[in-house]
Amino acid sequence: MMKAATRIIRAGLPDPQQAAPFLPGPTFAAPYHAAGDPVNAPYNYGRLHNPTWTHFEQALGELEGGLALAFGSGMAAIASVFGSVLRPGDKVVIPSDSYYLARVMTNGYFTQMGVQVVMAPTANNAQLEHLNGAKLLWLETPSNPGLDVCDIRAMAQAAHEHGTLVAVDNTTATTLGQQPLGLGADFSVASDTKALTGHSDLILGHVAVKDAKLMDGIRMWRNQIGAVPGPMEVWLAHRSLATLHLRLERQCASALTIAQFLSEQPSVSDVRYPGLTTHPVHELARQQMDYFGPIISFTLADEATAQRFLSKCQLVYEATSFGSLHTTAERRARWGGDVVAAGFIRMNIGCEDVDDLLDDLRQALK
Ligand SMILES: *Cc1c(COP(=O)(O)O)cnc(C)c1O
Repeated sequence: MMKAATRIIRAGLPDPQQAAPFLPGPTFAAPYHAAGDPVNAPYNYGRLHNPTWTHFEQALGELEGGLALAFGSGMAAIASVFGSVLRPGDKVVIPSDSYYLARVMTNGYFTQMGVQVVMAPTANNAQLEHLNGAKLLWLETPSNPGLDVCDIRAMAQAAHEHGTLVAVDNTTATTLGQQPLGLGADFSVASDTKALTGHSDLILGHVAVKDAKLMDGIRMWRNQIGAVPGPMEVWLAHRSLATLHLRLERQCASALTIAQFLSEQPSVSDVRYPGLTTHPVHELARQQMDYFGPIISFTLADEATAQRFLSKCQLVYEATSFGSLHTTAERRARWGGDVVAAGFIRMNIGCEDVDDLLDDLRQALK
């Protein structure tokens, strides 16, 4: 099989047609012309399908190794898995360090709808202890912002022995960095707002599955809830997807260099990056990931030191989110919600020259 770096360049592009563009432009349509029997009109209404989505979903399906469906945001994609799988009386096991809003949604809405929500940390596969009677095991690895890692293959196997479905929030790694379906998960879910598209210019998400029946549930959810993406966003995403490999190569190489640099600074503690050989789960990360991702985290003395550092950085935008080709960072505790020290910083390493980034961080730490 061709390497991912090659496949991603053409993923989802239609067969060559004389005088046609490689990637057709976005199709803007609410209704489509659709006369007579709707079976003969593959596109009839814009909430149900769009040719621009079809190309992008084809690309995601090829890369994920399954069938994919795009959503208007990462949260919409996450909600489609919870919403299509969970019914009153069901039990779901989620990471206590999962994406904040995923926790808010399960502990809020789904608890109120009669779903039992159990939380355990990502580290040490701690969620495994709670599989008894669970309908769904929700994983997020590497977790964020703590960057802990769990063993997807081992956990999927154990879950399936309990009759439990497995979903992985794969946002941090992206489909190039980690392949949840190949490791045994039933759902691979991601916010494509982050590294997958990587240009800080759109909100998008997707779900990928192997099993067509699970896809029916996800599709029905999207059709009925209407959490659909705009064609312009999807077209931009498809355009950006083609450079994911190039961006990740640069971002991950620089992230490792910068994590090593920070580890040597006396004013910096608790540097976390799964690619660091000193990271407690480096060996597991190496086995299940092809890229360790663009995020590093570290801790400065206190809130004031961390804020001063961020304000002195010239090449680092102070912003939330991650994955883009712009280097960004934030003091995570400013939001509340995550259990982190006041001086804890999450940094996304972008595509700038790593020597310039190192110079900037060096002067800002002084
Ligand atoms: C950002 C993010 C989400 C939510 O995605 P949106 O596109 O902002 O809705 C979900 N999971 C993780 C891990 C994220 O980082």
